[in-house]
Order: sequence, then structure tokens, then C-alpha cells
Amino acid sequence: MNQSATEQPSVIYLKDYEVPAFRVEQTELRFELEEEQTLVRSQVRYVRNPDSANRQHPLVLDGHEALELQRLSIDGEVLSDKDYRRSGEQLLIPNLPDHFTLECITRIEPQNNTALEGLYKSDGMFCTQCEAEGFRRITFYQDRPDVMALFESTIVADKQRYPVLLSNGNMVDAGEEDDGRHWVKWQDPFPKPAYLFALVGGDLQFIEDRYTTSSGRHVVLKIFAEAKDLDKLEYAMNSLKHSMRWDEQVYGREYDLDIFMIVAVDFFNMGAMENKGLNIFNTSCVLAHPETTVDAGFQRVEGVVAHEYFHNWSGNRVTCRDWFQLSLKEGFTVFRDSQFSADMNSATVKRIEDVTLLRTAQFAEDAGPMAHPVRPASFIEISNFYTLTVYEKGCEVVRMLHTLLGAQTFRKGSDLYFDRHDGQAVTTDDFVQAMADVSGRDMSRFKLWYSQSGTPQVSVTGEYDAQSQRYTLHMQQSCPATPDMATKQPFLIPVAVGLLDPGGEDIPLQGGETTEVLELIATEQSFVFENIPVEPIPSLLRGFSAPVKLKFPYSREQLVFLMQHDSDGFNRWDAAQQLAVGIMSELIADHQQGRELILDPALVDAYQQVLSDTELDRAMVAKVLTLPSEAYLSELAEVIDVDAIYRVRRFVRDSIANQLETLFLRVYQDNNTAEPYSPDAASVARRSLKNLALAYLMATEKQEYLQLALQQYRQADNMTDSQAALTLIVHSGFVQQASEVLDDFYQRWQNESLVVNQWLAVQASDPKEGALARVQALQQHPAYDGANPNKIRSLISIFCAQNMLNFHNTDGSGYRFLADQIIVLNKQNPQIASRLLTPLTRWKRYPQERSALMKAELERIRSSGDLSRDVFEVLSKSLV
Ligand code: ZN
Repeated sequence: MNQSATEQPSVIYLKDYEVPAFRVEQTELRFELEEEQTLVRSQVRYVRNPDSANRQHPLVLDGHEALELQRLSIDGEVLSDKDYRRSGEQLLIPNLPDHFTLECITRIEPQNNTALEGLYKSDGMFCTQCEAEGFRRITFYQDRPDVMALFESTIVADKQRYPVLLSNGNMVDAGEEDDGRHWVKWQDPFPKPAYLFALVGGDLQFIEDRYTTSSGRHVVLKIFAEAKDLDKLEYAMNSLKHSMRWDEQVYGREYDLDIFMIVAVDFFNMGAMENKGLNIFNTSCVLAHPETTVDAGFQRVEGVVAHEYFHNWSGNRVTCRDWFQLSLKEGFTVFRDSQFSADMNSATVKRIEDVTLLRTAQFAEDAGPMAHPVRPASFIEISNFYTLTVYEKGCEVVRMLHTLLGAQTFRKGSDLYFDRHDGQAVTTDDFVQAMADVSGRDMSRFKLWYSQSGTPQVSVTGEYDAQSQRYTLHMQQSCPATPDMATKQPFLIPVAVGLLDPGGEDIPLQGGETTEVLELIATEQSFVFENIPVEPIPSLLRGFSAPVKLKFPYSREQLVFLMQHDSDGFNRWDAAQQLAVGIMSELIADHQQGRELILDPALVDAYQQVLSDTELDRAMVAKVLTLPSEAYLSELAEVIDVDAIYRVRRFVRDSIANQLETLFLRVYQDNNTAEPYSPDAASVARRSLKNLALAYLMATEKQEYLQLALQQYRQADNMTDSQAALTLIVHSGFVQQASEVLDDFYQRWQNESLVVNQWLAVQASDPKEGALARVQALQQHPAYDGANPNKIRSLISIFCAQNMLNFHNTDGSGYRFLADQIIVLNKQNPQIASRLLTPLTRWKRYPQERSALMKAELERIRSSGDLSRDVFEVLSKSLV
């Protein structure tokens, strides 16, 4: 699949979509799993597609260079190589009847498959990842989501080594052979595209539970893992049952098979995969135990289990026509899982976390060379489009529909969508059409959110006329050019607005509501509010009602006022963010001009108020007191001044710490209660506030707080507290203690792979000088495995994304290091290589000196030759 230097990978366009020449009625697979090879026999019943424009079309089968074709026959007649044609990795068979069965035998080597796409081995067990185009690495097939078939799979393997053999659907038969092998046959009663096929073969243990659906179907639930991880599956099982109930209650969606299985695997490129009836999960998204998993880990497990489960309807029962429609299933499913997590925990906190990710990382994607619409118009390698834009912005687009239509009408729309398209492969237009049909609204302007890239900007000013008691909001929208699209038409932007009176109360608006959703559709538009008795302070974009950058000329006093009074919890937090961002941006300019840094007391005062208010929700307090990250400040900067951003953030943190020290100590003590660990929202909030207080205390660099952190590290009965203390100590200037706790931590957890990943990440993100050398040394450590994506992410991605100062060292060593990794990974695992490229692709955002160094490394990767499609695409878009 690697491209030779002369041959350029081709671009695939949405506008070129054509229906497949053949449909598939049934796909029968037989796998013989062995140590040196796997033999795959597929028997596929094809029917010529009456919808296909050209009745002369050959059958086009996707394949891969890793496939060794051993036999091809049609209705029992073996084909010779004159009967078909190879074109690149495809196989074309002309002159076919309207009905036939094609048998194909391929030989593959899963044990040597380091790309982790298709059938591969993870830690001795066989598993698959077929989305998006992995099935073509198993057998020759029409590997496209609009070809849906009934699957039957037989798996044969050594019984000792691989006692557990799984595939989609229901197990229908099993048996043993004389040679120590056994076999199992699975049948999936629902037609599906090849990307939802899955197979697992290994020595696995499982936990089991039962669930009865609302209409009375009994479902067996099983979660499989290696024996050592059997004690870490209960939380995922509970999350699964909660998800199943929630989807019935909120979307009216029931599970449809008699068994639902999840398998945990160690080597996995992404988070998890929704294969029909057989989800396969990265261990990091399914294993959870108080002693080894931090609070955020528990929440991730709950969210990802829900996400993959929800795909059973939004993705599997109704799937995508082509990969340009990826957000049809991903944006909608992320929206569904975010609603679920909001219901299970604190809705405001969940919203703050989602928006933080969107603004930090998705906005940066929109501002970079890979900018693309939620429904991309073209791609070279689809794996490069499993992006924040398709997932997170795609979720925001669905959320806007929910806001515009209201929960009830939205539900009618989703019912209509599932009903109308059950068993079909459809488009984002079909989804929006269902929403248009139930609401009677014309959605054509709204659909620009799917086709136009870039982050819209909205500037707002307010005007009050006391005479007429009228308040007017003047709004302007624009959207910057992106490399793929120079000009944009105005979007339909729902702006949720409330107006606060000087006492901080919401002024009743039309119909007595306190929040109104304004629909900004023009480049410039004004909205008038009547009967407003006093000049209000507007609360804009409540709940972050649209994925835009909104500007209003608030004074610092007004932001503090909103922090204290806004009835919208999200906007209270956002006011604090805007206050901090404003102050820090000014300090960044001061630093650049060589002026002395002086912190505006407004921030410390506001933080003090929030900290002292014992009525406030602890989770909110912790969120409000978390300073904007370096990554977010970078995204907001015109030109990213690494040193200024780093120094200013430190300065602000340290100043707050020193001025509010006593208060932080009190908050720490008040929240340092000794109750048994629980991952519920209130306990998570308490720990997050306590550990935030500890972080500020450690910033004072006082011995006594080091002692406090050491004490917490030693006494903690859960990973959240122990890891928080570990990180603070390791990142502090107390180097002796840092190295002691690091050693201690490793000794204690060396057999827990996921905990070792945290140990790697803590060191990779240590801002102290010499971090790169430490990262390089860790690559040689027995705990590291350069073939395991979780290890690569923990060490290398974290170093590049969360160790700003060291990665961006002006000697270029960080960039050179990353480029070296990518050159190796390009051959070994192209998906991971391509993702690792991201920090370098932002080279244009940095000042000349750094940007030249970054660009040079991109060029060096390009000239290293034999680029995968994944890496080629990102490089070619970054180097223009
Ligand atoms: Zn998904």
C-alpha cells in the first residue's frame, strides 16, 4: 500500500459517488487461524444491482498488497488470471452473470500485521479492526458501507491456545476436530457492511450479566478480557446496562440480538469499535478499577461504552452510504453519548469539558492545513478523517438541530429517521430531511454546517434605549477562509440569549422565558427586545449554543458579574474563562514588550469569591479555577509565542497560589475526607477540587506542601489521588523526591500496563529541562513497546502536545525527534504516524525561527520516501 516515489495517491471525491455494480445477498467466511498464516475462504452471493447505471460494469473488489490470492472461483469454476484484471490493489472481474457465487481463498499473516487494520494479533490474541477499510486486508470484497450483506462466519483454531472464538451475531454451531483444533460458527441476522465485521480468537475470560429490554427480549451481556484484567470489568458492565436503558427511554431504541459482547484488547489504534454484537475496545476505554483508574478514566469508560452501544442504531441499523457521510453516525452518536453522560453525571460539567475540547483542538484543526467540513468533499485516506471536526463539531451540528427544534420535535425526527432508513446506508442529507419533515422547517441554510469548513466568528454589540425600553443586539458573522474553501455563505447560527438586570436576575423575555434562541442567518442582523425596563447585561451563546467564536465587548466588571449571577452554569464558567483569557493575553503582550508582569487583582478577587462560597457545586469551582490551558491560549494567539504563553501561565498560577494560599489549604483539608472510593459525580467533584487546591499549593514551592503531596501519594487508596500527587511531585522542583516517587510508582505498578502508561505520560509532560532525553531513555525501558499505540500516545504524543517548552525547544531537537518517530511509524502503522504529525502541521502558526525548523522536518519526512497514503495526505496538505 505504500506509494512509490513517482506514483501519487489519488483523491476520492464525494461528487463521484456511484452505486455499486453488484449487491451482496450473503457472505460466508471461514477462517483457519494458525501461527504462521491464516487462511480465509469467502463465499459471496452476488446479484447485479438494477440501480447501477451501467449493466456492463465489472465486479470491482477491493484488496490489499498483504493479501495472497490462492483461489478464485465462480459457481464452482476456477478462474484463471485471464478471467480477471488487477488494477492497483483492486481486482476487476468482467463478463459476469446477474447472479453468482464467488469463492475466494486468501492467505494472510495477522502475526505480522503491525498496521492494526484488518485481522491482526494483539498480545497473542487474534482480533479485527475493519472500519473504515480494513476488511479488504482480509479478503477481496466490495469494501464499501453501501454494500450490506448477511454474514456467517466459521472460525477454526487450536483449542488450547484459542479457546474463545467470537464473531458477530449468534453462535449457531460448534465442534472439534481430531487434530486439537475446534471451530465455532456465528450467524448475524442483520445485514451489515464489511466494516462492521469482527472476529476474536484468544485465551480470554469473561464476566456475564443479563438484560431484559423494554419489550421483554432477554439479552446476555458478556465482557471479555485477559484473566489478569477480569477484576476491572464491572464498571463497563454497569455502564452498558445504563446505556441500554437510557437509549430505550430517551430515543425509544431497543437492542436487537440475544447477545451483546465487548472484548478488551491491548493493541488498538483508536478508542473502540461498534462491530455488530461484538464491540472491540482498547483496554484504556473498558478496564476500570479504583486502584488503577483515575476519575477521568471511569468517565471515559462510561462514555465510550455508551457511544459504541448507541451505534447499534446510529451506525449499524442505519449506516453510512459512503465515508464522506462518516459524521452521520459519528456526530449523531457523539451527541447521544454526550446527552447520556450529562444525564448520568453533571450536565454543566460535561458541557464545559466538551466545549473545552472543541475550542482547543477542533478550532485548531479548523485553523490548520487539514481543515475540512463535517461532511468532507474529498479525501486521499479516509483514516485521516476520523477527526475532531467529524466527531466533535459533527456533534455540535446535531446539538444545534436539537436546540432549534426542541427536544420533543427532535425525538420525532430521530424516530422518523430510524424508521424510514432502518437497514439502509444513507447520507447526512437524509438525516436533516427527517428533521425538516417533522418540523416543517426549511433546512437548506442549516445544511451549510455540513458542507462549509472553518469556525464562524460572531461579533455582537448591545444598544439600550431607555425611552422606548428597547434593547437591541447587533450581530455580524463571518468565517475565515480555509485552505479547502476561500469564501463561505452565512450560516444559520442559533444564539441562545438571556438578559440580566443589574441585580443579576434574568429579565423575562417573550412568553415569559428567560432564554431565547435567536437565529442569526444574515451577515449582519439586529434583534430587538421590547419592554426591557433597565439596561441589561446580555448572557450570550448560553450552553454554547453554536460552535462559533463569539465576541462581545464585556468589561472585566461585567464578566465578574456574569460569573456570579448568570443563571446559565456554562456561561458562568465561560465568563471566568473570558476574564482569565483577557488578562493573560494582556500579560503575554507585556512579556513580549519586556514589561514587568502585574496581575490584575480582579482575577484573584473573583477566584477568592468562588473559593469562599461553600454553596457552590465543587465541580464548578474546580472548573472555574482551572486556568485556560497553554493549548487553548495557543489556539487563540495570532502568532504562538511559546515562551510568553508558558511564562505568563506560570506567573498567573503562582500569583494566585501565593495570594490565596490559606484558602487553598482550607479547601484542601475540607475536601480531603476519608470515604471509600466511588466514581459518582459528587465524589469526582470533591477529588477534583481537592487536587486543584493541592496543585496551587504546590505552586508555592513550599516544603510543607511537598510533604502534603507525599502524604497523599502514600496514603491514597485510589489512583485519582495517587496520580494527582505523583504528577505534582514529579513536575515540581523537588527533584530528589520526584525520582523517588517515580521509582516507587513503577515498582508498584509495573504489571499494570495502563498504569505504566500513566507513569510514562507523567514523565513525558514534565516541563523541566532535559525532558527529551528522558523520553528517549524511556523508549529503551522494558515498559515501553514501540508497536503498541497506547504506549506511543503516552510517551510521544504527550511529549509533543503537553510539553510545550521542551517540544518547541529552539534547537529543533523536539521536532527532529518527532520526525524520526514518524519516519519509522509510516511503515509500521500509518494511522498512528499520520496522527502524530499534527503538531508539526501547525508550523505556520509559529514565529519564523520555529516555523522554519518545523517545516524542515516535514520536508525531511516527505523525502524519506515510500510514504503511506495517510502520511502523504497530511504532508501534502501541510506543505503548501
Ligand atoms: Zn463512533
